[in-house]
Amino acid sequence: MTQMPTVTRQDFDSVMVPNYNPAAVIPVRGQGSRVWDQDNREYVDLAGGIAVSVLGHCHPAMVQALQAQSERLWHLSNVMTNEPAIRLAQKLVAATFADRVYFCNSGAEANEAAFKLARRYASDHFGPDKHEIISFQQAFHGRTLFTVSVGGQPKYTEGFGPVPQGLHHIPYNDLDALKAVIGERTCAVVMEPMQGEGGIVPANEAFIQGVRALCDEHNALLIFDEVQTGMGRTGHLYAYQAYDVVPDILSSAKGLGGGFPVGAMLTSEKVAASFVVGTHGSTYGGNPLACSVAEAVLDQVNTPTLLDGVRERSEWLRSRLEAIAADTGAFKEIRGMGLLIGAEVAEPFAGQARDFLNAALEAGVMVLVAGPNVVRFAPALNIPQADLELGLQRFAEGVKKVVGQAAAA
Ligand SMILES: *Cc1c(COP(=O)(O)O)cnc(C)c1O
Repeated sequence: MTQMPTVTRQDFDSVMVPNYNPAAVIPVRGQGSRVWDQDNREYVDLAGGIAVSVLGHCHPAMVQALQAQSERLWHLSNVMTNEPAIRLAQKLVAATFADRVYFCNSGAEANEAAFKLARRYASDHFGPDKHEIISFQQAFHGRTLFTVSVGGQPKYTEGFGPVPQGLHHIPYNDLDALKAVIGERTCAVVMEPMQGEGGIVPANEAFIQGVRALCDEHNALLIFDEVQTGMGRTGHLYAYQAYDVVPDILSSAKGLGGGFPVGAMLTSEKVAASFVVGTHGSTYGGNPLACSVAEAVLDQVNTPTLLDGVRERSEWLRSRLEAIAADTGAFKEIRGMGLLIGAEVAEPFAGQARDFLNAALEAGVMVLVAGPNVVRFAPALNIPQADLELGLQRFAEGVKKVVGQAAAA
């Protein structure tokens, strides 16, 4: 099924804004955890479109849901509601702590809604002085001006100021740092239960429980950004379910649509009440196509078989990566939860995570990085064992090449 390339990677540079630097190859189709490029070269996908493609590419249940809805109704507006949106909201409410759902189209939008709601709720109940948001260094919450300012990577706001005010950034997994800044002006603390873009850094349990207690003490809302950790990624539908801690607001996107753009903000009835008619909105939020696909994804993911399978695959993947680390000396730590795993490069390879990604792609496997020092794996949650094995075999080849080149130099 070779295709004549009508466009090339070079064309990208002449028509696109230069904010990305994509790989040299252009994938044209995918099936399950395999992807083919313009030259019909095949890759094992251990990246999952950055933790998005939870069911792999073109899963039949998703294709069926999209096709069926595409012949029924594409779009209304928020002047009307629609059946798929209500059904998806019912299922999310049934499966989580939440009583209420707000739909949008991306992770940044889900967080934008969460931060605005937290401020509005505090303003309603405690007055406008209670507007400060505390977040964590290295955190990632999206690229809108508000979300990127709450995020903890200063390079992402460079040159975009003035940024929104009333934001504090403190070290992650450091309860004393939180104690020092939280107070009566704090309206919310926002955290990823495991930092994704920041390098695959899980929260320790005492920390996450301590954050909840401090929020309660100071009437601050706890927001969990589960855009990356949600939809089964950690072996639980949402990562909070692995801890004994319930947030007030949770944001979900990435895996929620399994590749179709959709985001959601989940919250309690009490907090939701502050988003009265007219306070917030989105043209496409709750789009019937998006919600139909997400409903199919949720039906597939939220099953014991799939979630148990994530934990089994996780153990296998981690032990294989430990073996590669021991064999090559390329990595000093393997960490993560479920099928969101990071391999931190050893000292001689500091800053070179991307070299491993490039070598892996050469060898026929797609992986990710999370910052300059961590190679990240976020495969489909249903990836067949054979694909996982082939992917890791190819990854090992790539690693050996990088390590060999370093030795020769
Ligand atoms: C990817 C990500 C976002 C942003 O999601 P977009 O859909 O790109 O806007 C926000 N938070 C976390 C934790 C993410 O991983």
